Amino acid sequence: MDEIPPSKGRLLLYVLCSYTVASLTAVLGITGQIFYWLIFDVCGFGKKQSNRKLNVTKSSNPNEYYTLIIGSGFSGLGAAIKLRELGTDNFVIIERHARVGGTWYANTYPGCACDVPSNLYSFSFEPNPNWSHFFGRQPEIGQYLEHCTDKYDIRRHIKFNTIVTEMKWLDDKQLWEVTTQSNGEENHIYAKFVMAGYGPLSNASFPKDIPGVDKFEGRMCHTAEWDKTLEFENKRVAVIGTGASAIQTVPELQKTGVKQLLVFQRTPPWVIPRADRKVTNFEKQLFAKFPAIQKLIRALVYWIRESTVLSFVYRLPTRYVNAELVKYNLRMHVKDEELRKKLTPTWELGCKRVLITNDWYPAIQKPNVKLVTNRIKEIKSNSIVTYDGDEYPVDIIIWSTGFLVQNFQLPIYGVNGKPLAEQWSETMQARVTVPNFPNFFFLLGPNTGLGHNSIIVMIEAQLQYITEALLYMQENNIQTLDVKPDVHDKFNHNLQAKLKKTVWQSGGCHSWYQDAKGNNTTIWPDFTWTYILLMKTFDFKNFIFQR
Ligand SMILES: Cc1cc2nc3c(=O)[nH]c(=O)nc-3n(C[C@H](O)[C@H](O)[C@H](O)COP(=O)(O)OP(=O)(O)OC[C@H]3O[C@@H](n4cnc5c(N)ncnc54)[C@H](O)[C@@H]3O)c2cc1C
Repeated sequence: MDEIPPSKGRLLLYVLCSYTVASLTAVLGITGQIFYWLIFDVCGFGKKQSNRKLNVTKSSNPNEYYTLIIGSGFSGLGAAIKLRELGTDNFVIIERHARVGGTWYANTYPGCACDVPSNLYSFSFEPNPNWSHFFGRQPEIGQYLEHCTDKYDIRRHIKFNTIVTEMKWLDDKQLWEVTTQSNGEENHIYAKFVMAGYGPLSNASFPKDIPGVDKFEGRMCHTAEWDKTLEFENKRVAVIGTGASAIQTVPELQKTGVKQLLVFQRTPPWVIPRADRKVTNFEKQLFAKFPAIQKLIRALVYWIRESTVLSFVYRLPTRYVNAELVKYNLRMHVKDEELRKKLTPTWELGCKRVLITNDWYPAIQKPNVKLVTNRIKEIKSNSIVTYDGDEYPVDIIIWSTGFLVQNFQLPIYGVNGKPLAEQWSETMQARVTVPNFPNFFFLLGPNTGLGHNSIIVMIEAQLQYITEALLYMQENNIQTLDVKPDVHDKFNHNLQAKLKKTVWQSGGCHSWYQDAKGNNTTIWPDFTWTYILLMKTFDFKNFIFQR
């Protein structure tokens, strides 16, 4: 039976309630931020990092560096910018692509954009007054990262079209030996530190349970490996998956003149409206002249987004309010009861990634679009067959089936040749560092992903921590650091205990946030400001050092 929708008065109350919680969080958050800044930065109670520099000597081996960075996305570029700020040029970035950008170089599917407003989804130290929209589109985020690369003089450090294939800690030399491949040629690079910014969403995933893919005679590609030569006009196109990339690309593909667009959905997502618009020239000039205004907007967006932690993590009753508003959004856009049922998730709002779009519901109801909810049984030479026996002829298949989040792609060997895969055989766990892997820092490693805010704040927090660690080591004449196993275990035990009560673990879904055993290895289960505070200083007591 269909749920009875709440009255208009009640809905209005829900909206008011939702706005009040968000506004209160923003006011409290910004006030707290100002006080923190006054006490620690202005009055000088915090440890000043600005005048502290690294004093790195060059090795006689041209293949040996102080630091090797994997990847040139936000993480890798951020790490490189930090190292230069600390006064060293003794680092190399290994990037398997031909350009910088990571996610924003690889994902070129039509409609690709960020779902966090760009004022917040950018480096805090490099605001961009020229975003074309409130939510930046893929090409301009890519351009922004190209701009950062040149402005901070990072390009000369990057080895493009080079892939890291293996990493080994050399106990006797206290160095990492990193094997790379480029143009079929293998090389070894040595580094005292590794900063791994390989990207949690950088390896496309394809379903393993659909037979016959190899028999398909049409064309196909993954959204994360977009084939620009595809032409859709008058074609029968299948999009497989209804996650974050699919809901962005389906509305765009629908407009290309496709004969039929079949959208194969396994589970429907919760969808909320995207408060997007073009940024006016006046606003751009204002941001350029008065950066403080853009900073204030960034802070507002940040704190409003932090307020969702109250329902996702702390399970305040506001979660019922938000759930009602999302259902209202669905009812407003989808009048057909049967279709609405198909588009209604059975789990709580937030359990799977909440998707932000204004185009998804309208697109799915266009005459040339069909939502298929029966599971795919097999793929034939020119069609897709579902378990109910229906056969859908298709010319092009677009896989929008996410990323290999739970399978760590790189063979890494730590102290005494111990493989990381063995250490992580039960579950992936880290704390920026992992025991037995000295001088190795993860950027966006396990449990630093977010379901509610901009990941850039997490990257910057980690870079702050790593900076403090490097400076501490230099100031205390330390060669290697290795996190104490009991500290690491306690941290992860507490983190998993906290996760149990959150919407991501108790909201009634299985998502890509979880591994096959149900452990949540991706999400940071708290406000991001708690993580920022955690990463503010280097907790040297929790490490084993070698001089
Ligand atoms: C379509 C899409 C939209 C997104 N939107 C948002 C958003 O709105 N807000 C948000 O917070 N997050 C979003 N994300 C998550 C996004 O991945 C992060 O925000 C961020 O871009 C991650 O940056 P990164 O540098 O850590 O990783 P990436 O950007 O993935 O960069 C990793 C880099 O490492 C390179 N690399 C990997 N392995 C190797 C290897 N073995 N050898 C050499 N190089 C290697 C890759 O080629 C890549 O360039 C989105 C992700 C996707 C896919």
